Amino acid sequence: MKMDATEIALQPPKFPKSMELFQRAGEIIPGGIYGHTTPVTTVPGAFPYYAASAKGGRYTDIDGNSYIDLMCGYGPIVLGHCHPEVDAAARERQEQGDCFNHPSPLMVDLAERMISLVDIADWAVFAKNGSDMTTWATQVAREHTGKRKILKVAGAYHGTDAWCTPGHGGLIDEDRAQIKNFTWNDSQSVVDTFKDFKDDIAAVIITPFHHPAFGDSSLPDTEFLKTIRQQCNIEGALFIVDDIRAGFRLHPGGSHRYFGFEPDMICFCKAMGNGYPISSTVGRSEYKVAASKVFLTGSYWNNAVPMAAALKTLEIVERDNVPAHLEKIGQRLFDGLSREGEAKGTPVVCSGPPAIPFMSFENDPGFHKMQKFSALCADEGVFFHPHHNWFLCQSHTEADIDECIEVAGRAMALLKSERLIETIAGN
Ligand code: PMP
Repeated sequence: MKMDATEIALQPPKFPKSMELFQRAGEIIPGGIYGHTTPVTTVPGAFPYYAASAKGGRYTDIDGNSYIDLMCGYGPIVLGHCHPEVDAAARERQEQGDCFNHPSPLMVDLAERMISLVDIADWAVFAKNGSDMTTWATQVAREHTGKRKILKVAGAYHGTDAWCTPGHGGLIDEDRAQIKNFTWNDSQSVVDTFKDFKDDIAAVIITPFHHPAFGDSSLPDTEFLKTIRQQCNIEGALFIVDDIRAGFRLHPGGSHRYFGFEPDMICFCKAMGNGYPISSTVGRSEYKVAASKVFLTGSYWNNAVPMAAALKTLEIVERDNVPAHLEKIGQRLFDGLSREGEAKGTPVVCSGPPAIPFMSFENDPGFHKMQKFSALCADEGVFFHPHHNWFLCQSHTEADIDECIEVAGRAMALLKSERLIETIAGN
């Protein structure tokens, strides 16, 4: 649907059902919708609040609006929504039961699969969420080293637990007392932090590339990765990779293979189950004893269905080399967005690995242009998040990407219109 600025201003609300439901939610659910899906930080009224259904690389909201899905559930959907092979494997398992008094044999199959896929893995454990695993991995490092400090990158996201949550509520100073920050891609900052806390450092934890919200993504410098490895070796600290967001999207063997470095433990989640709830940590044999001593369990952590889904997802990721497809279509998206940005006079910055792409506008530090751009694209059925890196999936085709680029180009042209900027700003 092509519109000019005036039409946009006169549009009837597109989300009556979303709005009504959100109002009901506000009465009985603190925050209505909380966490990363809260509508508060996007553009109120420009995006749907509730989803109804999805298939492949597209989804439909509860008001019947459809979108090319460039968020893929914020990462888990790596193959596509309702993937027939994964869902068939999950259904088959479901018919035999899911939640038992014991693990099912699939737990051993899945551990063997993780070890065969990930070169540094001599063992594997499973949980449900990313936070379960990042927190547990830091405990294993403390158990192994007998040291207290965990070094992390300032502004990096590792989950919702008190030691790392970006939230402010309910925290006490002691929660962060043993957590020390250094600066992404700054080798000197790594060296200095190791010096400051020498003899008390249990681990360094990093994401394989830096992907802050409201910021461009940044790939790791070789020197930076080398410095972390060296400093960990000298100190006897563990090098943990939080591959929860990027894992199995860049390389079927883990993102360290894509960037070329050697961690000691890796936490995976999102893409490993194509939407079924499962996470994992793998590690080198030296840390297996410590891993066996840190209590690890949860009500649903042995469930068989997500393990069946993960086995099938990982099989397909490797069989079809899904990361190569994501990289190819991601590069096509980058090329197209850059071209449109130039052509329409709204130059863009493409950042991150193409398989996990992100775009911002030059000279847009507050992401205001980005918000308007995303709102316009959403109106035409393309879901680009305004301030969080995007995700692609195997079901996205080159034609889908071309449609995204076309819509983006129209949105950029509209962005140039002063009138539109005034209209939205005045709302
Ligand atoms: N680390 C990273 C890099 C993540 O992207 C996330 C989730 N967005 C987490 C940790 C936490 O995962 P979860 O929300 O499943 O606890």
